[in-house]
Amino acid sequence: MATPLVLARFKVTASLDPAPLAIGADASPRANMAIGQAIGSDALLLIAGALALVALFSLFGVMAARNETRQVARLARRRAHSMNELLRTVRMAENIADLGVWQYNPATGEQQWSDGMRQLFGVDHEDEFVAGDAETLLFANDIDLVTHVLRRSDERSPYTLRYDIHGYDGAPRSISVQACNLFGEGGVMVRVVAVVRDVTDQVTRERALEDSRRAAVHEAREARQLAETDPLTGLANRRRVMTELDHLILDARRESLPLVLIVFDIDRFKLVNDTYGHLEGDKVLQSVAQIAAGQAREIDLVGRVGGEEFVWIVPRMHEMHAEQLAERLRQAIAHGSAVGQVPNVTVSVGLAQLRPSDTSLSLFARADNALYGAKEAGRNAVKLAA
Ligand code: GH3
Ligand code: MG
Ligand code: MG
Repeated sequence: MATPLVLARFKVTASLDPAPLAIGADASPRANMAIGQAIGSDALLLIAGALALVALFSLFGVMAARNETRQVARLARRRAHSMNELLRTVRMAENIADLGVWQYNPATGEQQWSDGMRQLFGVDHEDEFVAGDAETLLFANDIDLVTHVLRRSDERSPYTLRYDIHGYDGAPRSISVQACNLFGEGGVMVRVVAVVRDVTDQVTRERALEDSRRAAVHEAREARQLAETDPLTGLANRRRVMTELDHLILDARRESLPLVLIVFDIDRFKLVNDTYGHLEGDKVLQSVAQIAAGQAREIDLVGRVGGEEFVWIVPRMHEMHAEQLAERLRQAIAHGSAVGQVPNVTVSVGLAQLRPSDTSLSLFARADNALYGAKEAGRNAVKLAA
C-alpha cells in the first residue's frame, strides 16, 4: 500500500516547473499549452494515482470487511457448535438422570418443556411438540401443575410435588417435580423452574414397603385382637378386661370421676349343659353376651372372664345409677335369653364402685363378693358391694 502512494507523489513533484504556472490572461498561448500539457499529463497521473489509491483502499476495505465477516461467521459457527454440544450434553445428562426441566412464566402463562420433560410424558424428542401440547398432556393426566405452583408462589425455598402419570406411550410413571420460585423486583414471583424426575422405581418400592407395613400392622392388630377376644362370644377376654380395667381406673382417678364394675354369672348353667348339651349351652353364652353388649355404652367394656361369668365396666357413673343398669340387664336376660331349645336363663349380678384404696383386683374381688351375695340370696338378683 505504501509503494504506489510514494510513486505518485514523486511523479507529480518531478513534472511541475514553477515558471509555467503563471496561468492567466498574461500568459502566452504557448506557455498555456505547455502548462496545459504539463497539467494534462501530471493531473491525469495524479487522478489515476488517486483513483488507484481509492480502489486500493476499497479493495483493502472489502478484503478487511470480508475477512471480518468470515471471522464473525466462524465465531458464530463455533458458538453454535458449542451451543449444540452443550444442548447435547444437557440432553444426555437429562437422559442419564431421567431428568426433565419445566419452566413457567406467570406473566405470560408460557410453559417451557425440555426434551427430558417431554420424554417423561412419553413424547419422543423427535416428535413435533407444538404450543398447546403441554396443556393437553397435563390435562390428559389430570394434573393442574400451573395451579399447584401458583398456589405456592410465595414459597421461598424449593418444594416438591408428586404425580402419577400416563405418558403418550401408555407407560405409567411417577414423577417428582422439584420446583423453585424465582423472584423479581418487589418480591414478585417471575418464574418457576422445576427439575422433574422419574421416580417410578422409588415410588414402587415405597408403595410395596408401605403395603407390607400396613399388612404387618393389620396382622399385628388381628393377632392382638385374637389374643384379647373371646372366640365364642366376640367379647373382650379376661386378659383384655384386666388391662382395660387398669387403664380406666387410672383415667377415673385422673379425672376424679366415678367408675363401677358389674360382674354377672349365669345361674345353674351346669344344668343347662346337662339338659340341652354343651353346644346349646354355647348358644346361651352367646345370647347372654349379645344382650349385655347391646346395653353397654360406647365408653363401657363388656367381657367374658370365665366359663359363664361376665363383667361390665361402667366408667363415669355412680353405683346408684349403675345399679339400675345392672337391674335392667338382669331383666333383659331373664326375659330375652332363650335360644333354640333352651328357655330363658337368669343371672346373678354384683357391682362395686371404685374406692380410693382399690386396685383393679380388689375392686374385682368386692364385685365378686356382691355377686355371691346375690347367689346366696336366691339368684336372679342384683347386689351392691358393701
Ligand atoms: P351357679 O348358679 O352357682 O353359678 O351354678 P352354675 O351351674 O352356673 O355353676 P357351676 O360353676 O357349677 O357350673 C358352671 C358350668 O359352666 C360348668 C361348665 O360346664 C359350664 N361351662 C363353662 N364354660 C363353658 C363353655 O364354654 N360352654 C359351655 N357350654 N359350658 C361351659
Ligand atoms: Mg353359674
Ligand atoms: Mg360361675
